[in-house]
Formats: sequence, structure tokens, C-alpha cells
Amino acid sequence: MVGSKDKSKEKREKRLQEISLLRTIPYSDHQRWWTSETVAVVTGANRGIGFEMVRQLAGHGLTVILTSRDENVGVEAAKILQEGGFNVDFHRLDILDPSSIQDFCNWIKEKYECIDVLINNAGVNYNVGSGNSVEFSNMVISTNYYGTKNIITAMIPLMRHACQGARIVNVTSRLGRLKGRHSKLENEAVRAKLMDVDSLTEEIVDETVSEFLKQVEEGTWESGGWPHSFTDYSVSKMAVNAYTRVLAKELSERPDGEKIYANCFCPGWVKTAMTGYAGNISAEDGADTGVWLALLPDQAITGKFFAERREINF
Ligand code: NDP
Repeated sequence: MVGSKDKSKEKREKRLQEISLLRTIPYSDHQRWWTSETVAVVTGANRGIGFEMVRQLAGHGLTVILTSRDENVGVEAAKILQEGGFNVDFHRLDILDPSSIQDFCNWIKEKYECIDVLINNAGVNYNVGSGNSVEFSNMVISTNYYGTKNIITAMIPLMRHACQGARIVNVTSRLGRLKGRHSKLENEAVRAKLMDVDSLTEEIVDETVSEFLKQVEEGTWESGGWPHSFTDYSVSKMAVNAYTRVLAKELSERPDGEKIYANCFCPGWVKTAMTGYAGNISAEDGADTGVWLALLPDQAITGKFFAERREINF
């Protein structure tokens, strides 16, 4: 008898095969809105999914800025791609450090003037099973949520005004889902607040993560209905998902010709340093949906959540 785990494995493998095939189909001239002057920035790109997104975007002919918080490691990573003939540039960027963000923006302004695509990939996880600590929860929320928000806020004024729109892609996770099989959130009030996209604001998302951090500090988080496994990480990705919806709503008010589309995606469970290389897919497959989203020919898709090139529920 085939169990439900085997069935979902079979389904996933079938979808991955379909996507590998789709990846081999070149974009037509009609679909290609970008040129070699189109600039994409990827955060945390010295390794893993970020590095792979840089490689794939550069493979499609864009100019890609590989960023890394460690200068030496980033330069080496960029060199690998440059030696492979890819149009890849490097600059240091630590999304936790306001002066590094400012320095990066100044450099972009001087060298490129503006960018077309921002992929927020940098992230950390320290949770193992249900383990948690005040130090790590602060670090995870600061990096994954506030760091992502800070780089987005700094880069928006540098995003190109163009008819095809600029694009923001946030790398999140199904662990941050509010409903469905992967959701481990038991706090109904938080779920209701974050699900109500019409009333959702950045302040509500900030308050939610502050409440979580307060409960971690007080040692009461376990009875607070937060996800028990990968707790900080799940809350951080839940916050980025919600923020993506708020951001998309705000950006949709921009006039035509100045639009910026913001979406998020889950790469799957990927063999990278973050998972101790224990995932069930390669970084190449994990990067695919992010690259596909960044290059969508007919944008106007915004505020959505994707996995394996399909929209999924938040
Ligand atoms: P890695 O740990 O391999 O990569 C994470 C990257 O983020 C590294 O380059 C790391 O830099 C960088 N980073 C961390 N903190 C900062 C910071 N303050 N400023 C700039 N860069 C920083 O993991 P993955 O490639 O797996 O993860 C990439 C993204 O995908 C993350 O957002 C992760 O949450 C998400 N994701 C991953 C899944 C998986 O199964 N692997 C599943 C779902 C989502 P450094 O090398 O210096 O540490």
C-alpha cells in the first residue's frame, strides 16, 4: 500500500521533473523584458540558494550583484561565476548593519544608478527541533524579518521606473504558513490578524513579532500558541510573508510606469548549509521558483506566495 508520505514524495518528484524540463525552455524574445543592462541584486548570495539564484539570473543574461556579509567569501563566490563567463559583480552587504546597507546603496547609485530586481534571500536559523533561546530568537527575527525590511526600504528609492515594473522577491518558507499542513501556529488571534490582508499593516506585523520576543524573554512562549518546532524561524518567515502582502498593497498605489511587484516563495527543503545538507532537493531546484518569479513576463502579479512555480496559500 502506498502511504501519504510516499504519495507526496511521488507528487513532489513529478513536479520537480516538470520544472527541470520547463527550465530548459528558453524565454522567447516576446517574453524577455530584460537585457544585459537589467540589474538584479541577491542578498546572502555567497552560498546555497542565493548563490544559485545569482548563477541562474546571470545565465538568463542579466547583470547580477552577488552580495555577501563576508567580503572575502563573497569575492571568491563571485569569481567562480565571473570565470564561468557570467556578468556578476560583487559588493559587501550585511542586512543587519545599517551602515553596510547605506554603503551598498551609495555604491549602487554611483555605479548602476538603479536596480530592477531585489531578491531577499539572506537568512539564518538556529532552531533545532523545539529548542529556543532569547539570544537566537532575537537574532533570527532581526535578520530574517527586520533585516529584510530594512534592505527593502533602503532599495525601493533605487528601483527603476519602467513599464514592466521592478520586482521584489522574498525567500520565505512554508513553515511560516498560517493555514494548512505545514502550519504549526496554534494562536488563533495571531492567525486571524495576519490572515486579514485588508486590515493588515506593518505595525501589526511588528507588534506580532514583538509579542513573540517578549514571550520568549519571559519564558511563556510555549503556551502562547506559537509553532513549537523551528519556532523563531517559523515566526520570522510568517512575518516576512505578512510583510510581503502589506508591501505589495502599498506599492500597488504607485502610478503606472513606477510599479514594483512584491512576492514571496518557499524554495522547498533544500540541501544547503542551513539544513546541514539534509534537504530533499538541490540548491538549483530550490532557486528555480525565485528566478522564475523575478523574470515573470507579464507582471501585475503581486502580494502572492509561491512554491514550485505555483501559487500557494499564505
Ligand atoms: P545558507 O545558510 O546556505 O545561506 C544563507 C545565506 O544568508 C548565507 O549566505 C549567509 O551568509 C547569509 N546571511 C545570513 N545573515 C546575513 C546577514 N545579516 N546579512 C547578509 N547575509 C546574511 O542557507 P540557504 O541557502 O538554505 O537559505 C537561503 C534562504 O532560503 C534563507 O532565507 C532561508 O531561510 C530560505 N529557506 C531555506 C530552506 C532550505 O531548506 N534550505 C527552506 C526554506 C527557506 P554567511 O555565509 O556569511 O553565513
